[in-house]
Amino acid sequence: MSGTTEVKQKPRTAKDIIGPDKDPHLDEDNPFEAMMARFDHAAELLDLDPGIYRVLRMPEKQMIVAVPIQLDNAEVEVFTGYRVVHNTARGPGKGGIRFDMRVTLDEVKALAAWMTWKCAVVNIPFGGAKGGVICDPANLSISELERITRRYTAALLDVLGPESDIPAPDVNTNERVMAWIMDTYSMHQGHPVTAVVTGKPIEMGGSLGRREATGRGCMIATREALKYLGLPLRGTKAAVQGFGNVGSIAAALLEREGLTVVAASDISGAIYNPNGIYVEDAIAWVREHRYLAGYPGAEEVPAEQVITMDVDVLLPAAVENAITRKNAKDVRAKVICEGANGPTTPGADRVLEEKGVFVIPDILANAGGVTVSYFEWVQDRMGYFWEETMINERLEGVITRSFLDVMSVAERHSVNMRIAAYMLAIERVAAVHRLRGLYA
Ligand code: NAD
Repeated sequence: MSGTTEVKQKPRTAKDIIGPDKDPHLDEDNPFEAMMARFDHAAELLDLDPGIYRVLRMPEKQMIVAVPIQLDNAEVEVFTGYRVVHNTARGPGKGGIRFDMRVTLDEVKALAAWMTWKCAVVNIPFGGAKGGVICDPANLSISELERITRRYTAALLDVLGPESDIPAPDVNTNERVMAWIMDTYSMHQGHPVTAVVTGKPIEMGGSLGRREATGRGCMIATREALKYLGLPLRGTKAAVQGFGNVGSIAAALLEREGLTVVAASDISGAIYNPNGIYVEDAIAWVREHRYLAGYPGAEEVPAEQVITMDVDVLLPAAVENAITRKNAKDVRAKVICEGANGPTTPGADRVLEEKGVFVIPDILANAGGVTVSYFEWVQDRMGYFWEETMINERLEGVITRSFLDVMSVAERHSVNMRIAAYMLAIERVAAVHRLRGLYA
């Protein structure tokens, strides 16, 4: 026998699978790759078992469904819908549904995995899922949107359910859309199933405080970060990108805490007032005119300026990839609170870290929404509803404790808050996988 036979080593940790050359061609704009780059980094630092690493990389289910509907003009149009369930080790899949022309399967996969990590960071018993339909709600009537929602729900009846996969609102979907999902699902079950979706209208099993929860979570996380950095609340300047559910409510609550919101933007452009925008007034303007453009209490500035504005706190609350390698070097904020999912690319992360910017990562910063979704699901299942003060207090407790949990991982491993949040989340999900073992 020759003594030179090479024995292939089994991978001992995730690092052996990832290898040294892990992201030579990382596509910064691809949200799935951006998420995976962070996941890989955290998995390496954790010396994650290679088997668990392989399981966590792969979504449990990826559905592509045709959504045919009759338009108001009697023509038939077929839309494409997606639902991805990333992981259900810790509990049913949980995640929003977005209606947008830019929806892709890669984006939905990234967002589904994000939900797994987000639920684990705040330690609620849910896994991760996400869905979307490629459509342009601005060019669809309410009844067309209703038909899309109902047909999409019907196509996913085997997947959705209070014990398996629970949708919620996301970009361009709202309480009304959740009501249609709940109704469609319930008609098929033959009885009302309120816990199949969260973010429903209060009248039909929604939770008080849910609408404000994501913005409230952003406010709490920002407040904790400022406290940690020894910065005051009063007079601290903030800029907000995106003035929808998350951005406008976070802005209003930050203003209530004493911060001065000097700039805000939406798809129509950006507004700026060095003395502060009266946020409630701007919200009222948007309620009436749909967009910030034309708001009389501030001057209009180029939309991209919001990211690089001379402020202490920047709250990206619109879309992915808002802060990139290109504009990160010009960011002047000391704290970035990621209201949106994935607003910062991995390349931008490196630049921001070198600049010493304190980034509260999306999976912690915007977890207020899913936390109160969890409260809503609990209330629906109990059939007993809580006062808003109790919901806000419990949310406060969850976000504050989670911030401190992530902070302590960051300090222990000398990593930034994002990698710390991933490490905490991955370890929590991995722990359940170890306990449950593999069904075969
Ligand atoms: P929304 O539809 O209510 O608001 C989105 C806002 O962003 C709108 O003001 C829109 O005009 C603006 N916008 C869109 N494209 C823009 C651009 N290129 N530049 C500037 N502004 C732009 O959506 P939302 O619910 O507030 O969600 C915003 C982000 O927060 C998304 O990334 C979403 O995934 C994330 N998020 C939402 C929730 C929630 O509970 N709603 C929870 C967690 C995370």
